[in-house]
Amino acid sequence: MIRTRFAPSPTGYLHIGGVRTALYSWLYAKRLGGEFILRIEDTDLERSTEESVNAILEGMSWLGLDYDQGPIYQTHRFERYKEVIQQLFDKGLAYYCYATPEELDEMREAQKARGEKPRYDGRYRDFDGTPPEGIDPVIRFKNPLDGDVVIEDMVKGRVVIANKELDDLIIARSDGTPTYNLTVVVDDWDMGVSHVIRGDDHLNNTPRQINMYKAMGADVPKFAHIPMVLGEDGSRLSKRHGAVSVLQYKEQGFLPEALLNYLVRLGWSHGDQEVFSIDEMIEHFSLDNVNSSPSSFDTVKLTWINEQHIKSADAEHLARHLAPFVAQLGCDLSQGPALAEVADLLRDRAKTLVEMAEGSVYFYSDYEEFEAGAAKKHLRPVAQEPLQQLRIQLEALEDWNATEIHEVIQGVATGLEVGMGKVGMPLRVAITGGGQSPAIDMTAQLIGKERCLQRIDMALA
Ligand code: GLU
Repeated sequence: MIRTRFAPSPTGYLHIGGVRTALYSWLYAKRLGGEFILRIEDTDLERSTEESVNAILEGMSWLGLDYDQGPIYQTHRFERYKEVIQQLFDKGLAYYCYATPEELDEMREAQKARGEKPRYDGRYRDFDGTPPEGIDPVIRFKNPLDGDVVIEDMVKGRVVIANKELDDLIIARSDGTPTYNLTVVVDDWDMGVSHVIRGDDHLNNTPRQINMYKAMGADVPKFAHIPMVLGEDGSRLSKRHGAVSVLQYKEQGFLPEALLNYLVRLGWSHGDQEVFSIDEMIEHFSLDNVNSSPSSFDTVKLTWINEQHIKSADAEHLARHLAPFVAQLGCDLSQGPALAEVADLLRDRAKTLVEMAEGSVYFYSDYEEFEAGAAKKHLRPVAQEPLQQLRIQLEALEDWNATEIHEVIQGVATGLEVGMGKVGMPLRVAITGGGQSPAIDMTAQLIGKERCLQRIDMALA
């Protein structure tokens, strides 16, 4: 069974780079009919927060990255970690280390002074004396001293590390809580994870983790280490590049599938296709086409992808995502046309849902004033005549639809011997409040007869 997982530490917001890792893991499982697990790695009690857990869950849910198991919390599994640590002790593969922080500092300084790379020197590895008093020891893993660890990474290729480069890492802190490198191995083993897909910032940990799988008698999963996401300036993506939390993209009016589409392409390709539906991503995704070098985040491209998805989205789906933005602008969606119809009308002109929402307001809320510039140019005093005629003829329409409305506009223009714009623009400003809107006949149809007539009256007053 193919089983992948996303294993964020809840110590901040859900980072855009993390989302890409989650997406690749999710797609890999979906593509091969496997399972995807969400595991919250919250053993660092000082840095983990509930707020961050909620941001992760909300982000995953907004993106539609559903999981077959989870969320599983590591803090609920402490007993299991203790059991495994005990087994390592029993096999002689774990030991207490009583070195104090000062002692370790001294050790590192001395190593540096000798021009060596600072690393734990194994001073308590074979200790069998009386433990020093007043020290709560950490527990370390006995890394093999000889031989090599070979990683056949699905993205990076073959990576070989000599065991003598690896020191004995801490698997439990002095307060007894297990560390990441232990819990991740126990969990991936217990949860039957077949493919560990994660950021390449963890590549350094992998050889030590492989040694621990072996020490525990567990099967070693396959690994795929994905290069980092960089900011536009080529440095690692961080807050100073702007939004990095997935929920900020939600707030900025990106569709979840557009963000996923952008992220899947950031470091992976399928020919020269740029726009993918979720189903197409699942159909085509493979780790073979993941770049082994980092990619830079590009907001312009993300925005372009968003536009493409806004254009092609199912109208009801679009409306569901648009609704909160429109409501935020003070509109009551029950006081106007179905939002899906408005969305359909506006979709060709908007880059984000925020822009779309701004364009939706006049369908739901009345305004007190016309936009000054547009009114001066198209309403008063220039358009009193066409507006009066429109008012009479539109009121007489029995069937309020775009075709009929269009004919009225055309009729008035012909009668007055002016171009359509001289009639259409005043109508646009009158019924939308400004000079920008989609086709005026469709717009008028959706705004509704009563509201249009009231607004023309206001323009005539
Ligand atoms: N909890 C780790 C992190 O957030 C990820 C662990 C992993 O994927 O192995 O960086």
